Amino acid sequence: MAQNVAAFMENVIAKNPAQPEFHQAVQEVVETIWPVLDKRPEYRTHKILERIVEPERVLMFRVPWLDDKGEVQVNRGFRIEMNSAIGPYKGGLRFHPSVNLGILKFLAFEQVFKNSLTTLPMGGGKGGSDFDPKGKSDAEVMRFCQSFMTELCRHIGQFTDVPAGDIGVGGREIGFLFGQYKRIRNEFVGVLTGKGLNWGGSLIRPEATGYGAVYFAAEMLATRGDNFEGKTALVSGSGNVAQYTIEKLLDLGAKPVTCSDSSGYIYDEAGIDREKLAFLMELKNVKRGRVKEYAEKYSSAVYTPVDPNLDYNPLWDHKADAAFPSATQNEINGKDAANLLKNGVFVISEGANMPTTLDGINQFLEAGILYGPGKAANAGGVAVSGLEMSQNSLRLSWTREEVDQRLQGIMKSIHQASVDASKEFGMEGNYVAGANIAGFLKVADSMIDQGLV
Ligand code: NDP
Repeated sequence: MAQNVAAFMENVIAKNPAQPEFHQAVQEVVETIWPVLDKRPEYRTHKILERIVEPERVLMFRVPWLDDKGEVQVNRGFRIEMNSAIGPYKGGLRFHPSVNLGILKFLAFEQVFKNSLTTLPMGGGKGGSDFDPKGKSDAEVMRFCQSFMTELCRHIGQFTDVPAGDIGVGGREIGFLFGQYKRIRNEFVGVLTGKGLNWGGSLIRPEATGYGAVYFAAEMLATRGDNFEGKTALVSGSGNVAQYTIEKLLDLGAKPVTCSDSSGYIYDEAGIDREKLAFLMELKNVKRGRVKEYAEKYSSAVYTPVDPNLDYNPLWDHKADAAFPSATQNEINGKDAANLLKNGVFVISEGANMPTTLDGINQFLEAGILYGPGKAANAGGVAVSGLEMSQNSLRLSWTREEVDQRLQGIMKSIHQASVDASKEFGMEGNYVAGANIAGFLKVADSMIDQGLV
C-alpha cells in the first residue's frame, strides 16, 4: 500500500510544485482512502482520486486599489472551484499576506470532504487574497473588497459558487463584498454567506464554527461517558472561531485558559470567564487590538510574545484536558503534539483547518486520544452557511434556537458518520480515517453517477 500511495503522491507533487500545504492535505486523505479503493475497485476504474485532486477550475486575478494616501496598491485574488459533484462550490475567502495558490488549494480540497459530511448539498471551493486587512482603514478595506468583487462577481452566483468568510474576512468584509456584487449584478440573492442579520444573514452563523467544534468534542467525550464539566481547555487564536469556542466551553462548564494572535498568547490560570471574553471580543472585533492588551487589563494572565527561534509553541505546553487549535494551519507540530500528550490533553477538536502536521496527527492516533480533525470538527460553520442558503431560498429566517438545534443535529450526525465509516473499514476510533472516508464516498459516488465531467 505505502508504495502505491507514494507513487500517487509523487505524481501530485510533480504536477503541483511548490504547494507543500496542498501535498500535505492530499497525502492525509489518500492514506486513509487507499483501503477503500481496494474494497471498491470502481473508484480506480473511474480514476476518482486522480480527478478529485484536480480543481474543476482555478481563477487568479489582479486586484488593484487605492490606499488612503492615493497610492496604487496591487494584490492577487483567487478562487478555487474544486468540486461541484454534490452542489454549488462553497467555501470561504481568506485575506492574509500568507495566501497563495497552494494554501487555497489545500483549503478547497479539504472543503470538498467537509461539505459532504454536513449532509447538505454543497460542493467545495475556497478563495481569497494576499491582502492584509490588519492596520488598514475601513475605507481601504472597502475599496479593496469592491475591486476584488468587481472581478469575482462574474464567476460566482447563488447556484454556482457561494463564498463566505475565513481568516481576515468577517462581517465587515462580507458586507462590502455583498454590496458590490449587488450593485454590479443588480440582484439581491444569497451569493455570500455570513451576511448581516438585516440583509439575509442567519442567526448563529457567527457562532457556528466555534460552537460546532465544542459540540463535536462533546460527542467524542460522550463515547467515554464523559463531559466538559470542570475540564481545562487550551484555545489558540482570538478571532471568530476562538471566541465562540471559548463561549461554548463556558456554557458547558469548562475552563478555557489561553488564547492568542500572531504576535503572542495569554495564559490565564484563573480562566477566561464571560466578562473577560466580552473584553476580548470588543478588543478584537471593534478596537482591532492585540491579545497582549488582555494581560495588561487582567493581572491573572501572563502574556508571552512569539519567539521565532523556538521550534515549538509554548501555548500547547500547559497542563490541560482539552485543546482547540483555532488559529491557522500547521500550528501544532510534532513537538507541540508531544507536549500536549505529556500535559494530559486527551481531547482535541480542530476549529482551524489542518492545524496539525502529519507527524502530530500520527502521535495523537497512536496515543489513542479523542482527536477530531478539522474536516469534521469545524464543519459547523459551513453547515450553518448551508442553512443560511436554505433560509435565503425560502425567504424566511429561523430562530436562534432552531438554527442551533440543527447545528447540534448536524455535528452529531458528522460524528456518527465518522465513527461508522472508521468501523466499517477496520479503523475504529480513528476520526481522521472516518471523516475522510465518509466525506469521500458521497462525492465519489456522485462523480460516477454524473459521468466523465
Ligand atoms: P479570524 O481572522 O477571525 O481569526 C484568526 C485568528 O488566528 C487571529 O487571532 C489571528 O491572529 C490568528 N492567526 C491567523 N493567522 C495566523 C498565523 N499565521 N499565525 C498565528 N496566528 C494566526 O479567522 P477565523 O477565526 O475565521 O479562522 C481561524 C481558523 O478557523 C482558520 O484556520 C480558518 O480556516 C478556520 N475555519 C474558520 C471558519 C469560519 O467559519 N470562520 C470555518 C471553518 C474553519 P492575528 O489577528 O494576529 O492575525
